[in-house]
Amino acid sequence: MGFNKEYFKKVYLNNLCTLCETNLEEATLLDKYNALVYTIRDDLYKKWVNTNKIRKENNVKKVYYFSLEFLPGKLLDRNLIYLGIKDLCNEALEEMGISLKELEELEEDAALGNGGLGRLAACFLDSMASLQLPGCGCGIKYKYGLFKQKIINGYQVEEEDNWLKSGGLWGITKIDKCVEVKFGGNVKSIYENNKLIFKEENYHSILAEPYDVPVLGYKNEFVNTLRLWRAKSKKDFDFDYFSLGEYLKAVEEKVDIESISYVLYPDDNNYKNKVLRLKQQYFLVSASIQSIINEYKKSNKINSFHEKIAIHINDTHPTLAIPELMRILIDYEGLSWQEAWHITVNTISYTNHTIMPEALEKWPLHMVKELLPRVYMIIEEINKRFYERVLREKGEQKAKNIAIIFNNEINMAKLAIVGSHSVNGVAKLHTNILKSEVMRDFYDIYPERFNNKTNGITHRRFLLKSNTKLSNLISESIGDCWIKSPKELKKLESFAEDKSFCEKLQCIKKENKIELSKIIKDSTGIIVDENSIFDVQIKRFHLYKRQLLNVLNIIYMYNEVLQNRDVFPRTFIFSGKAARGYYEAKQVIKLINALGEKINKDSRVKDKIKVVFLENYRVSLSERIFPAADVSEQISTASKEASGTGNMKFMMNGAITLGTLDGANVEILEAVGKENIVTFGLKAEEVLNYYKNRNYNPFEVYNREPIIKNSVDKLVNGFLDINRDEFKVLYNELLRRDEYFVLKDFMEYIKAQKKIEQLYKNTNVWNKISITNIANSARFSSDRTIKEYAKEIWNIENIK
Ligand SMILES: *Cc1c(COP(=O)(O)O)cnc(C)c1O
Repeated sequence: MGFNKEYFKKVYLNNLCTLCETNLEEATLLDKYNALVYTIRDDLYKKWVNTNKIRKENNVKKVYYFSLEFLPGKLLDRNLIYLGIKDLCNEALEEMGISLKELEELEEDAALGNGGLGRLAACFLDSMASLQLPGCGCGIKYKYGLFKQKIINGYQVEEEDNWLKSGGLWGITKIDKCVEVKFGGNVKSIYENNKLIFKEENYHSILAEPYDVPVLGYKNEFVNTLRLWRAKSKKDFDFDYFSLGEYLKAVEEKVDIESISYVLYPDDNNYKNKVLRLKQQYFLVSASIQSIINEYKKSNKINSFHEKIAIHINDTHPTLAIPELMRILIDYEGLSWQEAWHITVNTISYTNHTIMPEALEKWPLHMVKELLPRVYMIIEEINKRFYERVLREKGEQKAKNIAIIFNNEINMAKLAIVGSHSVNGVAKLHTNILKSEVMRDFYDIYPERFNNKTNGITHRRFLLKSNTKLSNLISESIGDCWIKSPKELKKLESFAEDKSFCEKLQCIKKENKIELSKIIKDSTGIIVDENSIFDVQIKRFHLYKRQLLNVLNIIYMYNEVLQNRDVFPRTFIFSGKAARGYYEAKQVIKLINALGEKINKDSRVKDKIKVVFLENYRVSLSERIFPAADVSEQISTASKEASGTGNMKFMMNGAITLGTLDGANVEILEAVGKENIVTFGLKAEEVLNYYKNRNYNPFEVYNREPIIKNSVDKLVNGFLDINRDEFKVLYNELLRRDEYFVLKDFMEYIKAQKKIEQLYKNTNVWNKISITNIANSARFSSDRTIKEYAKEIWNIENIK
């Protein structure tokens, strides 16, 4: 921008005055933050306008990424780095007596997502912009994001997340680009000019108002858009009621309508058939498709829609995009069913994120019929045509297996497969399970649709931005090309036994651990030893992720220490939220805190073991933890974690994976070799066989192995300073069902933990493993993932 410090200061002070109505002496921290965003925005928006202009001139194919969740985290620091003006800005602010760090801390995380799925969407936007691929994220502007978590008396307590209170100034509301979304009513079929047409009647219509956030690429002047929709009532109040003095009634409808974009559902990997959620899904899809078509028709003919537009649906949540696109093409654009179907299938592609039965969306027929009568008719027709085809070609049994509508429910995954040209899983293992088990019948019919796209993460946020020290060391050693071409990281392998490099790496890890120790002390009061192994499990709380397995090992180790057996000092760090209504997961949080209470204050343990729970896990907190981790706990039951992305963030920061052969862990093993990772436990195939044959008996395992019995009993025998019934539910789950094979994998996990200890004691070996992990992490950059999507699914090209 030809930005220099003096110019920056001038613009900044001017913004403080003209946009915040204050001056340097009077300004609050929020004023100072807002003025900074305005100052950066100037430059950012110019680049944005320019990118849009170039894109339109080129009239190239564009992808729209539909997702109910986006989890970008904080934007200030990122945008400064991506613009290449962080140092300049830091110095200029300093000269005015303002601390950039303080302003960064003031900014709220944009947490419009639960966890991995939403973070993936944010990483994809980052990579698309950095690779100059024309793309646009489409989501909902939830007024309240994922709840904030407080730990009170060891329990999770939820508080609302009013993320817009620190401005929301990055984006811009486009009032004149509102579209109308219709709910309810009925459909009338009539003949007009010898053609059957459908008219929607008696519906309620609401407005969808777009809020566009610029998504800047890394030092490339390229800016994509994240479009977030807000639900808005057409009328602010009903004048008739107002005149009668019935003020509440007068605004009732407005409140009801605006509730659609009020709050994010806090359930991860768990489907609930709530009508408000269905409204959210349709609201996103209908508004986005209408706005895409409006823009598209300005310069193109509808028949070649799929040649210029790709729409990707992130999990089944936006699957209504399929019938909605059909509806618009048929009812508004006048296309025939066949023409519309051809365009729809060739436009839409779908990513499956899980095989967990409780996460599979199945909407009750009556709910869809009442809320979306025309969409419902189209789904019925899609189902009928597909069913009849399969019946004809493959017989009755197959036809039954693939029915989209069954038992008065619409199976959204089936609808998504039938209505799209590409179905992908998110790691090799997961895609193979889809093909051979969960979606076998569909793979049989459409083998060419199925493909794998292993997830990735943006190395620019999770290494460059969050681990500055390590990034600098890497750049000093191999140059800074890795920031744009992460494959360059491979060059680090030649430093695996370089004494000076290893010492620096170790030093950096230590400094990062000291910084995290401060956060731990401030947040929990616990003092930890930065020379201990930082053993970290941070992710959503879910029984399949098996935080409980980690806990049982801690109980075992604690016992070992008390028996005076040699144990290398460890700090176990946990962080993560549980869905509000998920009792068992919340009890695991309580269990960790209860165990920490007991161990951390036991003087006999003498700092050999510390157990820490950091509250309110979120992107910005995670960025402080990954750089300080030695051990990455990725211990889900094999077959359950479709990919995982936390595992990749740890690896890139030089932590060593302790994991099961699940999700992308399998590919981490492939990338680093078996000497550079510690794996254990049942294989996916074994787990799936146990489910099929129903021949796993946890009670037998418990009785056979005293170590297991000993640890498990401590949940209920008064060992913890708590009511003996507190953890009864967890205890019973382990003994009676153990759906996730915690007990089955326990002994092997203990062994794996001992292996970690052995490796850590040998500093040279540990450093070498750590470097090998960093050096081979490029394949887990979302740049690699997005290039594959662009080439193999979307057929889009970058703009030079
Ligand atoms: C990466 C990330 C996740 C996903 O972690 P997994 O270990 O893959 O479950 C969840 N939440 C946040 C905030 C993240 O940054």
